[in-house]
Amino acid sequence: MFEKILIANRGEIALRILRACKELGIATVAVHSTADADAMHVRLADESVCIGPPASKDSYLHIPSLLAAAEITGADAVHPGYGFLSENARFAEILADHNLAFIGPKAEHIRTMGDKIEAKKTAKRLGIPVVPGSDGGVGPDDDAMAIAKEIGFPVLVKAAAGGGGRGMKVAQTEADLEMALSTAATEAKAAFGDASVYLEKYLTKPRHIEIQVLGDGRGGALHLGERDCSLQRRHQKVWEEGPSPILSPAAREKIGGICAKAMQEMKYLGVGTIEFLYEDGEFYFIEMNTRIQVEHPVTEMITDIDLVLEQIRIAAGGDLPCTQDEVQIIGHAIECRINAENPETFRPSPGTITQYHPPGGLGVRIDSAVYQGYKIPPYYDSLVGKLIVHGKNRPECLMRLRRALDEIVVDGVETTLPLFRKLAREKDMIEGDYHIHWLEQYLAGK
Ligand code: ADP
Repeated sequence: MFEKILIANRGEIALRILRACKELGIATVAVHSTADADAMHVRLADESVCIGPPASKDSYLHIPSLLAAAEITGADAVHPGYGFLSENARFAEILADHNLAFIGPKAEHIRTMGDKIEAKKTAKRLGIPVVPGSDGGVGPDDDAMAIAKEIGFPVLVKAAAGGGGRGMKVAQTEADLEMALSTAATEAKAAFGDASVYLEKYLTKPRHIEIQVLGDGRGGALHLGERDCSLQRRHQKVWEEGPSPILSPAAREKIGGICAKAMQEMKYLGVGTIEFLYEDGEFYFIEMNTRIQVEHPVTEMITDIDLVLEQIRIAAGGDLPCTQDEVQIIGHAIECRINAENPETFRPSPGTITQYHPPGGLGVRIDSAVYQGYKIPPYYDSLVGKLIVHGKNRPECLMRLRRALDEIVVDGVETTLPLFRKLAREKDMIEGDYHIHWLEQYLAGK
Protein backbone atom coordinates (compact mmCIF):
# COMPACT_ATOMS: atom_id res chain seq x y z
CA MET A 1 0.00 0.00 0.00
CA PHE A 2 1.09 3.60 -0.54
CA GLU A 3 2.55 5.48 2.40
CA LYS A 4 1.93 9.04 1.35
CA ILE A 5 -0.44 10.39 -1.29
CA LEU A 6 -0.22 13.83 -2.83
CA ILE A 7 -3.71 15.12 -3.67
CA ALA A 8 -3.38 17.13 -6.89
CA ASN A 9 -6.71 18.91 -6.61
CA ARG A 10 -8.78 21.31 -4.51
CA GLY A 11 -12.30 21.76 -3.14
CA GLU A 12 -14.68 19.00 -2.16
CA ILE A 13 -12.89 16.27 -4.14
CA ALA A 14 -9.57 17.00 -2.40
CA LEU A 15 -11.35 16.52 0.91
CA ARG A 16 -13.10 13.40 -0.38
CA ILE A 17 -9.74 11.83 -1.32
CA LEU A 18 -8.27 12.87 2.01
CA ARG A 19 -11.06 11.00 3.82
CA ALA A 20 -10.30 7.78 1.92
CA CYS A 21 -6.57 8.15 2.68
CA LYS A 22 -7.29 8.63 6.38
CA GLU A 23 -9.37 5.47 6.51
CA LEU A 24 -6.58 3.54 4.81
CA GLY A 25 -3.96 5.00 7.18
CA ILE A 26 -2.13 6.75 4.35
CA ALA A 27 -0.42 10.12 5.02
CA THR A 28 -1.64 13.04 2.89
CA VAL A 29 -0.05 16.00 1.16
CA ALA A 30 -2.33 18.84 0.10
CA VAL A 31 -1.24 21.24 -2.61
CA HIS A 32 -2.81 24.65 -3.05
CA SER A 33 -2.60 27.89 -4.95
CA THR A 34 -2.15 31.15 -3.04
CA ALA A 35 -5.92 31.68 -3.42
CA ASP A 36 -6.62 28.43 -1.53
CA ALA A 37 -4.32 28.88 1.49
CA ASP A 38 -7.35 28.74 3.83
CA ALA A 39 -9.02 25.76 2.16
CA MET A 40 -10.35 22.92 4.29
CA HIS A 41 -8.30 20.22 2.52
CA VAL A 42 -5.15 22.19 3.35
CA ARG A 43 -6.12 22.42 7.01
CA LEU A 44 -6.92 18.73 7.34
CA ALA A 45 -3.98 17.25 5.40
CA ASP A 46 -0.86 16.05 7.19
CA GLU A 47 1.32 18.34 5.11
CA SER A 48 0.69 21.07 2.56
CA VAL A 49 2.67 22.79 -0.17
CA CYS A 50 1.83 26.03 -1.97
CA ILE A 51 2.31 25.35 -5.68
CA GLY A 52 1.73 28.75 -7.24
CA PRO A 53 -0.53 31.71 -7.97
CA PRO A 54 -4.35 31.49 -8.40
CA ALA A 55 -4.50 30.78 -12.13
CA SER A 56 -4.89 27.00 -12.58
CA LYS A 57 -2.29 26.87 -15.35
CA ASP A 58 0.30 28.21 -12.89
CA SER A 59 -0.71 25.94 -9.99
CA TYR A 60 -3.09 22.94 -10.22
CA LEU A 61 -2.14 22.34 -13.87
CA HIS A 62 1.55 23.12 -13.46
CA ILE A 63 3.27 19.71 -13.58
CA PRO A 64 6.79 20.82 -12.48
CA SER A 65 5.38 22.36 -9.28
CA LEU A 66 3.43 19.19 -8.50
CA LEU A 67 6.51 17.04 -9.07
CA ALA A 68 8.56 19.29 -6.81
CA ALA A 69 5.88 19.10 -4.11
CA ALA A 70 5.86 15.28 -4.32
CA GLU A 71 9.65 15.20 -4.21
CA ILE A 72 10.11 17.42 -1.13
CA THR A 73 7.38 15.66 0.83
CA GLY A 74 8.42 12.15 -0.18
CA ALA A 75 4.99 11.17 -1.53
CA ASP A 76 4.83 7.85 -3.40
CA ALA A 77 1.55 8.34 -5.29
CA VAL A 78 -0.59 11.13 -6.73
CA HIS A 79 -4.39 11.25 -6.81
CA PRO A 80 -5.58 13.67 -9.51
CA GLY A 81 -9.30 13.87 -8.53
CA TYR A 82 -11.48 15.13 -11.41
CA GLY A 83 -10.83 17.99 -13.82
CA PHE A 84 -7.32 19.54 -13.84
CA LEU A 85 -4.79 16.79 -14.73
CA SER A 86 -7.04 13.80 -14.10
CA GLU A 87 -7.34 12.84 -17.78
CA ASN A 88 -3.89 13.94 -18.91
CA ALA A 89 -2.01 10.86 -20.18
CA ARG A 90 1.25 12.79 -20.31
CA PHE A 91 0.96 13.61 -16.60
CA ALA A 92 0.48 9.91 -15.79
CA GLU A 93 3.61 9.07 -17.83
CA ILE A 94 5.71 11.83 -16.27
CA LEU A 95 4.77 10.60 -12.79
CA ALA A 96 5.80 7.06 -13.72
CA ASP A 97 9.13 8.41 -14.98
CA HIS A 98 9.64 9.90 -11.53
CA ASN A 99 8.71 6.71 -9.70
CA LEU A 100 5.40 8.11 -8.56
CA ALA A 101 2.21 6.08 -8.92
CA PHE A 102 -0.67 7.76 -10.74
CA ILE A 103 -3.96 6.78 -9.11
CA GLY A 104 -5.90 6.24 -12.30
CA PRO A 105 -5.97 4.11 -15.45
CA LYS A 106 -3.07 3.22 -17.73
CA ALA A 107 -1.84 6.19 -19.82
CA GLU A 108 -2.78 4.44 -23.09
CA HIS A 109 -6.40 4.10 -21.97
CA ILE A 110 -6.59 7.75 -20.86
CA ARG A 111 -5.23 8.76 -24.26
CA THR A 112 -7.61 6.56 -26.28
CA MET A 113 -10.70 7.66 -24.37
CA GLY A 114 -9.60 11.32 -24.32
CA ASP A 115 -9.99 11.46 -28.08
CA LYS A 116 -13.68 10.98 -28.68
CA ILE A 117 -13.22 9.73 -32.22
CA GLU A 118 -10.76 7.06 -31.05
CA ALA A 119 -12.98 6.33 -28.05
CA LYS A 120 -15.98 5.63 -30.28
CA LYS A 121 -13.93 3.37 -32.55
CA THR A 122 -12.64 1.47 -29.51
CA ALA A 123 -16.10 1.19 -27.98
CA LYS A 124 -17.52 -0.16 -31.22
CA ARG A 125 -14.70 -2.71 -31.49
CA LEU A 126 -15.44 -3.84 -27.92
CA GLY A 127 -19.09 -4.46 -28.70
CA ILE A 128 -20.52 -1.31 -27.10
CA PRO A 129 -23.41 0.28 -29.08
CA VAL A 130 -22.52 3.79 -30.31
CA VAL A 131 -24.47 6.82 -31.64
CA PRO A 132 -24.68 6.65 -35.44
CA GLY A 133 -22.31 9.18 -36.99
CA SER A 134 -19.23 9.80 -39.10
CA ASP A 135 -16.74 7.00 -38.54
CA GLY A 136 -13.91 9.43 -38.04
CA GLY A 137 -13.14 13.16 -38.10
CA VAL A 138 -14.81 15.36 -40.67
CA GLY A 139 -12.35 17.70 -42.39
CA PRO A 140 -12.81 20.46 -44.97
CA ASP A 141 -11.99 18.01 -47.79
CA ASP A 142 -14.61 15.47 -46.77
CA ASP A 143 -18.09 15.70 -48.10
CA ALA A 144 -19.60 16.57 -44.73
CA MET A 145 -22.99 17.16 -46.33
CA ALA A 146 -23.12 13.67 -47.82
CA ILE A 147 -22.16 12.14 -44.46
CA ALA A 148 -24.74 14.27 -42.64
CA LYS A 149 -27.48 13.32 -45.10
CA GLU A 150 -26.63 9.69 -44.64
CA ILE A 151 -26.88 10.03 -40.85
CA GLY A 152 -30.04 12.10 -41.24
CA PHE A 153 -30.76 15.59 -39.84
CA PRO A 154 -30.64 16.93 -37.18
CA VAL A 155 -26.94 16.21 -36.69
CA LEU A 156 -24.57 17.26 -33.94
CA VAL A 157 -21.06 18.52 -34.67
CA LYS A 158 -18.77 17.51 -31.80
CA ALA A 159 -15.14 18.24 -30.93
CA ALA A 160 -12.83 15.20 -30.80
CA ALA A 161 -11.08 16.76 -27.80
CA GLY A 162 -14.39 17.98 -26.30
CA GLY A 163 -15.31 18.27 -22.65
CA GLY A 164 -17.67 20.26 -20.47
CA GLY A 165 -20.14 20.54 -23.34
CA ARG A 166 -17.84 22.82 -25.36
CA GLY A 167 -17.30 22.54 -29.10
CA MET A 168 -20.78 21.10 -29.73
CA LYS A 169 -23.15 22.56 -32.33
CA VAL A 170 -26.48 21.29 -33.66
CA ALA A 171 -27.36 21.53 -37.33
CA GLN A 172 -31.13 21.19 -37.57
CA THR A 173 -31.18 21.26 -41.35
CA GLU A 174 -28.81 21.20 -44.31
CA ALA A 175 -28.67 25.00 -44.28
CA ASP A 176 -27.11 25.01 -40.78
CA LEU A 177 -24.35 22.49 -41.40
CA GLU A 178 -21.55 24.71 -42.71
CA MET A 179 -21.99 27.22 -39.89
CA ALA A 180 -22.16 24.47 -37.24
CA LEU A 181 -18.96 22.89 -38.58
CA SER A 182 -16.99 26.10 -38.56
CA THR A 183 -18.19 27.38 -35.16
CA ALA A 184 -17.60 24.00 -33.49
CA ALA A 185 -14.10 23.79 -34.97
CA THR A 186 -13.24 27.35 -33.92
CA GLU A 187 -14.56 26.77 -30.41
CA ALA A 188 -12.68 23.46 -30.16
CA LYS A 189 -9.44 25.05 -31.34
CA ALA A 190 -9.78 27.84 -28.78
CA ALA A 191 -10.75 25.57 -25.87
CA PHE A 192 -8.62 22.49 -26.54
CA GLY A 193 -6.02 23.51 -29.13
CA ASP A 194 -7.45 20.86 -31.47
CA ALA A 195 -9.96 21.78 -34.18
CA SER A 196 -10.94 18.20 -35.16
CA VAL A 197 -14.66 17.59 -35.19
CA TYR A 198 -16.96 14.71 -36.06
CA LEU A 199 -20.66 14.21 -36.75
CA GLU A 200 -23.26 12.40 -34.72
CA LYS A 201 -26.97 11.82 -35.06
CA TYR A 202 -28.64 14.39 -32.80
CA LEU A 203 -31.02 12.55 -30.52
CA THR A 204 -34.00 14.72 -29.70
CA LYS A 205 -35.31 13.42 -26.36
CA PRO A 206 -32.76 11.02 -24.91
CA ARG A 207 -31.83 10.41 -21.32
CA HIS A 208 -28.20 10.47 -20.23
CA ILE A 209 -27.48 7.18 -18.50
CA GLU A 210 -23.94 6.20 -17.49
CA ILE A 211 -22.45 2.96 -16.21
CA GLN A 212 -19.86 2.95 -13.42
CA VAL A 213 -17.07 0.43 -13.96
CA LEU A 214 -14.15 -0.76 -11.88
CA GLY A 215 -11.24 -2.80 -13.25
CA ASP A 216 -8.17 -4.40 -11.71
CA GLY A 217 -5.91 -3.84 -14.74
CA ARG A 218 -5.39 -7.60 -15.14
CA GLY A 219 -8.61 -8.49 -16.91
CA GLY A 220 -10.99 -8.44 -13.97
CA ALA A 221 -13.77 -5.83 -14.14
CA LEU A 222 -17.19 -5.12 -12.66
CA HIS A 223 -20.05 -2.76 -13.38
CA LEU A 224 -21.74 -1.00 -10.49
CA GLY A 225 -25.02 -0.08 -12.11
CA GLU A 226 -26.03 3.24 -13.61
CA ARG A 227 -26.54 6.89 -12.82
CA ASP A 228 -29.17 8.90 -14.64
CA CYS A 229 -27.76 12.38 -15.35
CA SER A 230 -30.49 13.61 -17.68
CA LEU A 231 -31.13 16.80 -15.74
CA GLN A 232 -28.70 19.14 -17.47
CA ARG A 233 -28.15 22.77 -18.33
CA ARG A 234 -25.86 23.56 -21.27
CA HIS A 235 -24.80 19.90 -21.40
CA GLN A 236 -23.69 20.14 -17.75
CA LYS A 237 -25.14 17.84 -15.12
CA VAL A 238 -27.23 19.43 -12.38
CA TRP A 239 -29.00 16.54 -10.63
CA GLU A 240 -27.94 12.90 -10.81
CA GLU A 241 -29.67 9.81 -9.53
CA GLY A 242 -29.39 6.07 -9.38
CA PRO A 243 -30.90 3.74 -10.31
CA SER A 244 -32.43 5.44 -13.34
CA PRO A 245 -36.19 5.87 -12.81
CA ILE A 246 -36.85 4.26 -16.20
CA LEU A 247 -34.43 1.35 -16.50
CA SER A 248 -35.54 -2.22 -15.84
CA PRO A 249 -33.27 -4.66 -13.98
CA ALA A 250 -32.97 -6.72 -17.16
CA ALA A 251 -31.88 -3.70 -19.23
CA ARG A 252 -29.36 -2.77 -16.50
CA GLU A 253 -27.90 -6.27 -16.48
CA LYS A 254 -27.60 -6.26 -20.24
CA ILE A 255 -25.82 -2.92 -20.70
CA GLY A 256 -23.81 -3.38 -17.49
CA GLY A 257 -22.66 -6.78 -18.69
CA ILE A 258 -21.55 -5.35 -22.05
CA CYS A 259 -19.54 -2.62 -20.27
CA ALA A 260 -17.93 -4.99 -17.77
CA LYS A 261 -16.93 -7.38 -20.56
CA ALA A 262 -15.42 -4.51 -22.59
CA MET A 263 -13.38 -3.41 -19.56
CA GLN A 264 -12.19 -6.99 -18.99
CA GLU A 265 -11.02 -7.15 -22.59
CA MET A 266 -9.20 -3.81 -22.31
CA LYS A 267 -7.66 -4.80 -18.97
CA TYR A 268 -8.92 -1.48 -17.66
CA LEU A 269 -7.47 -0.29 -14.36
CA GLY A 270 -9.35 1.69 -11.74
CA VAL A 271 -12.68 3.54 -11.90
CA GLY A 272 -14.31 4.70 -15.10
CA THR A 273 -17.65 5.79 -16.46
CA ILE A 274 -19.13 4.78 -19.77
CA GLU A 275 -21.64 7.41 -20.85
CA PHE A 276 -24.66 6.67 -23.01
CA LEU A 277 -27.67 8.42 -24.39
CA TYR A 278 -30.77 6.26 -24.05
CA GLU A 279 -33.77 6.67 -26.33
CA ASP A 280 -36.61 4.31 -27.26
CA GLY A 281 -35.06 1.46 -25.32
CA GLU A 282 -31.66 1.70 -27.04
CA PHE A 283 -28.28 2.69 -25.58
CA TYR A 284 -25.85 4.82 -27.60
CA PHE A 285 -22.28 5.32 -26.33
CA ILE A 286 -21.11 8.95 -26.34
CA GLU A 287 -17.88 8.88 -24.33
CA MET A 288 -15.90 7.30 -21.53
CA ASN A 289 -14.45 9.22 -18.58
CA THR A 290 -11.30 7.67 -17.16
CA ARG A 291 -11.47 9.31 -13.74
CA ILE A 292 -13.56 9.50 -10.60
CA GLN A 293 -16.63 11.60 -11.46
CA VAL A 294 -18.33 14.38 -9.55
CA GLU A 295 -21.47 12.24 -9.18
CA HIS A 296 -19.68 9.10 -7.88
CA PRO A 297 -21.42 9.33 -4.45
CA VAL A 298 -24.72 8.28 -6.05
CA THR A 299 -23.18 4.89 -6.83
CA GLU A 300 -21.51 4.70 -3.43
CA MET A 301 -24.83 5.20 -1.67
CA ILE A 302 -26.65 2.48 -3.62
CA THR A 303 -23.83 -0.11 -3.68
CA ASP A 304 -22.12 0.66 -0.36
CA ILE A 305 -18.77 0.52 -2.18
CA ASP A 306 -16.30 3.33 -1.47
CA LEU A 307 -15.10 4.15 -4.98
CA VAL A 308 -12.22 6.42 -4.00
CA LEU A 309 -10.91 3.95 -1.48
CA GLU A 310 -11.15 1.11 -4.02
CA GLN A 311 -9.45 3.31 -6.61
CA ILE A 312 -6.47 3.74 -4.25
CA ARG A 313 -6.37 0.05 -3.28
CA ILE A 314 -6.47 -1.07 -6.90
CA ALA A 315 -3.79 1.45 -7.97
CA ALA A 316 -1.57 -0.15 -5.30
CA GLY A 317 -2.10 -3.58 -6.91
CA GLY A 318 -5.12 -4.70 -4.87
CA ASP A 319 -7.96 -6.93 -6.04
CA LEU A 320 -11.53 -5.97 -6.90
CA PRO A 321 -13.64 -5.59 -3.72
CA CYS A 322 -16.18 -8.26 -4.70
CA THR A 323 -17.56 -10.36 -7.54
CA GLN A 324 -20.25 -9.14 -9.94
CA ASP A 325 -22.81 -11.34 -8.19
CA GLU A 326 -22.04 -9.66 -4.88
CA VAL A 327 -22.78 -6.18 -6.23
CA GLN A 328 -26.22 -5.22 -4.98
CA ILE A 329 -28.21 -2.11 -5.77
CA ILE A 330 -29.83 -0.99 -2.52
CA GLY A 331 -32.54 1.68 -2.57
CA HIS A 332 -32.25 4.99 -4.38
CA ALA A 333 -29.90 8.00 -4.26
CA ILE A 334 -30.11 11.54 -5.65
CA GLU A 335 -27.32 14.11 -5.82
CA CYS A 336 -27.78 17.87 -6.23
CA ARG A 337 -24.79 19.95 -7.34
CA ILE A 338 -25.09 23.13 -5.32
CA ASN A 339 -23.28 25.96 -7.08
CA ALA A 340 -22.52 29.50 -5.95
CA GLU A 341 -24.59 30.96 -8.76
CA ASN A 342 -27.73 32.96 -9.18
CA PRO A 343 -30.52 30.33 -9.36
CA GLU A 344 -32.13 32.05 -12.34
CA THR A 345 -29.33 33.61 -14.40
CA PHE A 346 -26.61 31.15 -13.25
CA ARG A 347 -24.15 34.03 -12.96
CA PRO A 348 -21.31 32.96 -10.61
CA SER A 349 -21.54 34.47 -7.16
CA PRO A 350 -18.14 34.24 -5.45
CA GLY A 351 -17.76 35.77 -1.97
CA THR A 352 -17.76 34.94 1.71
CA ILE A 353 -20.11 32.36 3.22
CA THR A 354 -21.52 34.16 6.25
CA GLN A 355 -23.73 31.34 7.55
CA TYR A 356 -23.35 27.64 6.85
CA HIS A 357 -25.47 24.86 8.26
CA PRO A 358 -25.26 21.45 6.55
CA PRO A 359 -28.33 19.22 6.83
CA GLY A 360 -28.17 15.91 8.67
CA GLY A 361 -30.23 12.89 9.62
CA LEU A 362 -30.64 9.41 8.22
CA GLY A 363 -29.66 8.99 4.59
CA VAL A 364 -28.24 12.50 4.14
CA ARG A 365 -24.67 13.14 2.99
CA ILE A 366 -22.87 16.38 2.18
CA ASP A 367 -19.61 16.36 0.21
CA SER A 368 -18.36 19.91 0.52
CA ALA A 369 -15.22 21.77 1.49
CA VAL A 370 -16.84 25.04 2.58
CA TYR A 371 -17.32 26.35 6.12
CA GLN A 372 -18.72 29.45 7.80
CA GLY A 373 -16.42 32.37 6.97
CA TYR A 374 -14.96 30.59 3.92
CA LYS A 375 -14.30 32.88 0.99
CA ILE A 376 -15.18 31.25 -2.36
CA PRO A 377 -12.42 32.37 -4.76
CA PRO A 378 -13.47 33.56 -8.22
CA TYR A 379 -10.81 31.56 -10.08
CA TYR A 380 -12.26 28.05 -10.09
CA ASP A 381 -15.57 26.24 -10.60
CA SER A 382 -18.53 27.41 -8.54
CA LEU A 383 -19.36 24.12 -6.79
CA VAL A 384 -20.22 24.80 -3.12
CA GLY A 385 -20.96 21.19 -2.37
CA LYS A 386 -22.98 18.14 -3.26
CA LEU A 387 -26.03 17.05 -1.33
CA ILE A 388 -26.56 13.32 -1.67
CA VAL A 389 -29.65 11.67 -0.23
CA HIS A 390 -30.42 7.98 0.03
CA GLY A 391 -33.72 6.21 0.66
CA LYS A 392 -35.17 2.70 0.49
CA ASN A 393 -36.91 3.68 -2.72
CA ARG A 394 -37.31 6.78 -4.91
CA PRO A 395 -40.33 8.26 -3.08
CA GLU A 396 -38.54 8.00 0.27
CA CYS A 397 -35.41 9.49 -1.27
CA LEU A 398 -37.38 12.46 -2.64
CA MET A 399 -39.07 12.96 0.73
CA ARG A 400 -35.68 13.13 2.44
CA LEU A 401 -34.30 15.34 -0.30
CA ARG A 402 -37.05 17.95 0.20
CA ARG A 403 -36.46 17.89 3.95
CA ALA A 404 -32.65 18.21 3.59
CA LEU A 405 -32.99 21.05 1.06
CA ASP A 406 -35.25 22.94 3.46
CA GLU A 407 -32.76 22.46 6.28
CA ILE A 408 -29.49 23.47 4.60
CA VAL A 409 -28.34 27.08 5.08
CA VAL A 410 -25.72 28.75 2.85
CA ASP A 411 -25.76 32.53 3.27
CA GLY A 412 -23.56 35.33 1.96
CA VAL A 413 -23.46 34.11 -1.64
CA GLU A 414 -26.20 33.23 -4.08
CA THR A 415 -26.68 29.50 -4.62
CA THR A 416 -28.73 27.20 -6.79
CA LEU A 417 -30.56 25.84 -3.71
CA PRO A 418 -33.86 27.61 -4.52
CA LEU A 419 -33.89 25.86 -7.90
CA PHE A 420 -33.45 22.43 -6.28
CA ARG A 421 -36.22 23.18 -3.76
CA LYS A 422 -38.55 23.78 -6.71
CA LEU A 423 -37.32 20.81 -8.75
CA ALA A 424 -37.83 18.36 -5.89
CA ARG A 425 -41.52 19.37 -5.93
CA GLU A 426 -42.09 19.31 -9.71
CA LYS A 427 -44.49 16.70 -11.01
CA ASP A 428 -42.22 15.49 -13.85
CA MET A 429 -39.28 15.17 -11.46
CA ILE A 430 -41.37 13.30 -8.91
CA GLU A 431 -42.50 10.95 -11.65
CA GLY A 432 -38.98 10.63 -13.06
CA ASP A 433 -40.30 11.81 -16.40
CA TYR A 434 -37.54 14.00 -17.82
CA HIS A 435 -34.89 13.97 -20.57
CA ILE A 436 -31.73 15.97 -21.36
CA HIS A 437 -33.65 19.05 -22.56
CA TRP A 438 -36.26 19.07 -19.80
CA LEU A 439 -34.43 21.52 -17.49
CA GLU A 440 -33.72 24.09 -20.18
CA GLN A 441 -37.33 23.97 -21.30
CA TYR A 442 -38.47 24.29 -17.67
CA LEU A 443 -36.17 27.28 -17.11
CA ALA A 444 -37.47 28.93 -20.27
CA GLY A 445 -40.96 28.60 -18.82
CA LYS A 446 -42.14 26.08 -21.41
P1 ADP B 1 -18.69 16.55 -22.95
O1 ADP B 1 -17.47 15.67 -22.88
O2 ADP B 1 -18.42 17.89 -23.56
O3 ADP B 1 -19.45 16.61 -21.68
P2 ADP B 1 -20.49 14.48 -24.06
O4 ADP B 1 -20.21 13.73 -25.29
O5 ADP B 1 -20.29 13.76 -22.74
O6 ADP B 1 -19.64 15.85 -24.07
O7 ADP B 1 -21.97 15.04 -24.09
C1 ADP B 1 -22.48 15.90 -23.10
C2 ADP B 1 -23.97 16.06 -23.26
O8 ADP B 1 -24.28 16.60 -24.55
C3 ADP B 1 -24.77 14.78 -23.17
O9 ADP B 1 -25.05 14.39 -21.85
C4 ADP B 1 -26.03 15.19 -23.93
O10 ADP B 1 -26.84 16.02 -23.13
C5 ADP B 1 -25.49 16.04 -25.06
N1 ADP B 1 -25.20 15.21 -26.26
C6 ADP B 1 -24.03 14.62 -26.61
N2 ADP B 1 -24.14 13.91 -27.75
C7 ADP B 1 -25.43 14.04 -28.15
C8 ADP B 1 -26.20 13.54 -29.28
N3 ADP B 1 -25.65 12.77 -30.22
N4 ADP B 1 -27.51 13.88 -29.35
C9 ADP B 1 -28.08 14.68 -28.41
N5 ADP B 1 -27.42 15.19 -27.36
C10 ADP B 1 -26.12 14.88 -27.21
